Amino acid sequence: MTGGLLAVHAHPDDETLSTGALLATWAAAGLPTTVVTCTRGEQGEVIGPEQSVLEGNGRALAEHREVELAGALAALGVRHHAFLDQLVRPSSSPGGQDDGDGPGGRLRFADSGMAWIATGQATAAADLPEDAFVRVPVDVAAAGLADLIRREEPTVVVGYEPGGGYGHPDHVHAHRVMTRAVELATAHLAVAPTVLWAVLDLVQLRAAYRALAEEPTPAGLALPDPAGPVPSAAVPSAGVDVEVDVDPVLDKVLAAMRSHATQVQAVRPTPGSTHVARFALSNAVLQPLLATETYRVAHGQGPAPTEWPAGIRPRVA
Ligand SMILES: [Zn+2]
Repeated sequence: MTGGLLAVHAHPDDETLSTGALLATWAAAGLPTTVVTCTRGEQGEVIGPEQSVLEGNGRALAEHREVELAGALAALGVRHHAFLDQLVRPSSSPGGQDDGDGPGGRLRFADSGMAWIATGQATAAADLPEDAFVRVPVDVAAAGLADLIRREEPTVVVGYEPGGGYGHPDHVHAHRVMTRAVELATAHLAVAPTVLWAVLDLVQLRAAYRALAEEPTPAGLALPDPAGPVPSAAVPSAGVDVEVDVDPVLDKVLAAMRSHATQVQAVRPTPGSTHVARFALSNAVLQPLLATETYRVAHGQGPAPTEWPAGIRPRVA
């Protein structure tokens, strides 16, 4: 496989948390690797007393998270990045908002916010911002992304499954926009890209939840319930088509996680058979970084009949 990889993510930190090993492995193979981020994560909660002043200050938090994202991408070896609103032409955006910044005004897609319903399950926030990404019509956002796909002709496009990984409305919208963009671009391409959805192997996830309970739990953090609800990304083992070894790129992934200091805490390697590290988000529930990052090929196709960079392989049932 000699082509590029294009990853579509909702917020800063998602590139690392859901596709960090794939990105680092792809980039380390010397292949073109691009991340598109749909929003700047400015509605999110902020971890840590030093930066707590940023919570609720959308513009300042957005700027801070742009810096965190740049650090994470550098750690992963990803050299190409764009925010989705930079790809969409303002004239084509009846639903997008113009914040008046910059010459001629610029589009800006804002983080839509979310609320937790359970561990690993999110829903829409009660008050949706005017310029929320989820208010931007799918075709408008997809047009800009489709232009990028036509220019770069990636071999693989990667994003979320239809549930957006865990239900966050920006993630669900990012899935729809990615899907539509591939459809629009493919009409102009000789070869359609393989579309991968980031998924979690349910068996591995539950085993890692149980293993986490055997380790010391840092003060102030809780353990996930091994029998409790799981994110929509969790699928039966038979639903996994492609897997990536995390260990060879673990240092890069952990460095990227630490770069997202306002969103990710308690990052620590924990060598084991089920997971290679643990961390927590703002909900203060420990999460395993599974030893294998897993993907499903979209549309029920089998894994692309191609060779993959070392460390990435089709899963043999
Ligand atoms: Zn996110």
